[in-house]
Amino acid sequence: MTAISNHAMVLATRPNGEPREDDFRLEQQDLGELQDGQILVRVLWLSLDPYMRPMMNDAKSYAKPVPIGGTVVGEVVGEVVESSSQKYSVGDHLTAYAGWQEAFIADDSMPGMYKIKPADVPLSTYLGVVGMPGRTAYGGLLYLGKPKSGETLVVSAASGAVGSVVGQMAKMMGCNVVGVAGGPDKCRYVTQQLGFDQCVDYKQGNLKENLANACPSGIDIYFENVGGDVARAVAPLLNKGSRVPICGFIANYNDTDISKAETPQQIFSSLEEPPEHRFFLQTEWQDEHQAITDQLTAWVKQGKLVYRESIAEGLSAAPAAFRGMLNGKNFGKQLVRIHPESKAD
Ligand code: NDP
Repeated sequence: MTAISNHAMVLATRPNGEPREDDFRLEQQDLGELQDGQILVRVLWLSLDPYMRPMMNDAKSYAKPVPIGGTVVGEVVGEVVESSSQKYSVGDHLTAYAGWQEAFIADDSMPGMYKIKPADVPLSTYLGVVGMPGRTAYGGLLYLGKPKSGETLVVSAASGAVGSVVGQMAKMMGCNVVGVAGGPDKCRYVTQQLGFDQCVDYKQGNLKENLANACPSGIDIYFENVGGDVARAVAPLLNKGSRVPICGFIANYNDTDISKAETPQQIFSSLEEPPEHRFFLQTEWQDEHQAITDQLTAWVKQGKLVYRESIAEGLSAAPAAFRGMLNGKNFGKQLVRIHPESKAD
């Protein structure tokens, strides 16, 4: 077996509110022996995503909590370095939910593991613009947002992995697109690089007034990524017949007791005329995984979808990068480079 020393980042303690460095622990682990039908994978890129934070709580949700001492969950891009499988050869690249670690052994039929084509787009984008966040934007916008030309769409966390794709797709569909983002640099990027019509900086104050000024004809679609104050500012501006795909509410993920948060569902259903709104999971469109990935890839290659990445170096940098992402320190998709790509990649 190829000698790869594995390190994994495990959950040492459950974060109380904002995660701290010592909620995580780097461990050396034995990978064991490769069995028939298995592959040894070297991790190149690790994705850091907001959903990981609720999974660190000991609370019921759509996903099981990460156990104390367990490897933190997460999707990676990896390269097969040894294979006892008919399906994968050495040198193949894949995405898999393998967690925060440097290498892993997997059955070749591991659920959620997909071969990817490195020649098409950079490998890292399979965790961002053409990966899970891109597919989230695609399904949530098209199937729940149902955009029509001329409508006004607002998207929060607009410069981020999901929000940047939502807004660019809505522009392709002829919508008037308004982003909400934190700070002048992100807002400038959203209008000048991503091509949104306007961007409201929620950190500047006067959010309700600034949003109303940016949306003089009201809001037809609100793609919800953050909840909290932004959702409360959007709610009174929603037009009759509006749609609100609820993707997430990151503003509350670091709450000491998230069950006490006012959720977007509560905010929008309490309106006199509630919009069409529901929480969704990107896995609802799992059967379209390849078709949506191919479409997003084509748009990236045609220059119709642009993206930005924030890259942390090495597994030991993952906890700080994760904490930063929850506070908006990331600018675009937050990744961790675990191993450098080989020259042929
Ligand atoms: P991003 O790349 O957008 O990074 C998170 C961003 O959230 C930060 O950069 C920050 O941007 C913003 N943010 C953090 N705190 C606040 C706050 N209090 N108020 C407003 N904005 C805040 O992350 P993703 O694109 O990966 O995820 C966006 C959302 O989509 C999350 O809620 C996530 O849980 C959800 N999601 C849901 C999926 C599903 O299947 N339902 C799948 C994937 C993601 P800024 O600096 O602009 O504040």
